[in-house]
Amino acid sequence: MFKGILVNKIDGVYGAALQDIDDTVLGDGDVTVGVEWSTLNYKDGLAITGKSPVVRKFPLVPGIDFAGTVLASTHPKWKAGDKVVLNGWGVGESHSGGLAQTARVKGDWLVALPAAFSTRQAMAVGTAGYTAMLCVMALEKHGVKPADGEVLVTGASGGVGSVAVSLLSKLGYTVVASTGRMEEAAYLQSLGAATVIDRAELSNPGKPLAKERWAAVVDSVGSHTLANACASTKYGGAVAACGLAQGMDFPASVAPFILRGITLHGIDSVMAPLAKREEAWARLAKDLDLAKLDALTSEVALENAVGVAADLLQGKVRGRVVVKL
Ligand code: NDP
Repeated sequence: MFKGILVNKIDGVYGAALQDIDDTVLGDGDVTVGVEWSTLNYKDGLAITGKSPVVRKFPLVPGIDFAGTVLASTHPKWKAGDKVVLNGWGVGESHSGGLAQTARVKGDWLVALPAAFSTRQAMAVGTAGYTAMLCVMALEKHGVKPADGEVLVTGASGGVGSVAVSLLSKLGYTVVASTGRMEEAAYLQSLGAATVIDRAELSNPGKPLAKERWAAVVDSVGSHTLANACASTKYGGAVAACGLAQGMDFPASVAPFILRGITLHGIDSVMAPLAKREEAWARLAKDLDLAKLDALTSEVALENAVGVAADLLQGKVRGRVVVKL
C-alpha cells in the first residue's frame, strides 16, 4: 500500500481524496516508478474537482505528470535507479498518474531527467512549463526573432504563462504579460516581463483586425483573448495557442490570416512525439533560469493538494505548484 489521491465516482457522486492505495489501481505498464514529485496543472484541477470530464476511468490516480526513480522495469531503455520524467500520454486521465507515491507506466512514455534538474525542479517545470517551451519552439521555428518586437504572453501569472515569460525574456524577447491580477505586476516583471497589461484589454469581443502590435503570442487562455491576440499580431507573425483558461471557443474572423498572413500554431503536449519532448526538455535545461524557476514555484503537501486544485481553477494560484510524494 502507498499514499495517493484517488478519484472515484460512486453512485454518480464524484470525489477525490487522499487515501491508502493498492497496486491494482495503477494499471498496466512495464516500468514502476517511485514518484518523488508531482504537480498541479490546470488539467489536474479539472480532474480532481470533476469540473470537466477529464477522468475517463474510475478509480484513478490523477496527476498528468511526475518525476521520480525507476523501481522496477522490464523495458529495455530503463533500469532500477534511473531518474525519469513523465508528461501526458493520457496519464492522470485514462491511466493512473503522478499524485501517488507509486506509478506504473509504459517505458516508451518516459523521458530521462535532464542532468540540470532535480526531480523537484523538473516538476516545477512540469507539463505547464514543458508546454510553454513547446510554444516557444513553435515561434522560433516560425522564424520569430527578438528584434521583431513585443511578444504577448496571456494567462501570464499561471503556470504556462509564468514559464513562458521567464523563457522568452532569457532568450532576449521583449515580453508583454497579460494578467487579470495586476497586483502580480512586480512578480511578472521579476520573471522578465517588460510590460504588464490588464487582461481586460483582450478578453472582451473585439474587431476582426486591430492595430498591429505583437510579433508573436503565447496564449494559454483561448476565447476572445486568442481572437484579439490574432487580430493585433503584426504582418507575418505567429500565435502559439495551447490553452482554454477563458474558454474553448475561438470567436475570431479569418481577417488576420488572409490579410496579414499570420499563423496560428496549435500546441499539444499530451501526445507530442518523443523526439519533440526530448528537444523541449533539453531546451528547458539550457534556457530556463533556475532562480526564476524557484521564484515561480510553491510547494503543497499531498494532504492539501485537493483543496489547492480547486483554487487553481479559480485563478488563485500563482506560477507553478509542486507536490511532494
Ligand atoms: P493555470 O491555472 O496555472 O493558469 C491559467 C491562467 O489563465 C490563470 O492563472 C490566469 O492568469 C488566466 N485565466 C484564468 N481564468 C481566466 C479567464 N476566465 N479569462 C482570462 N484568463 C484567465 O493553468 P496552466 O498554466 O497550467 O494552464 C493554462 C492553460 O493551458 C489551461 O487551459 C490548460 O488546460 C492549458 N494547457 C494545455 C496544454 C496542451 O498540451 N495544450 C498543456 C498544459 C496546459 P492571470 O491571473 O495572469 O490572468
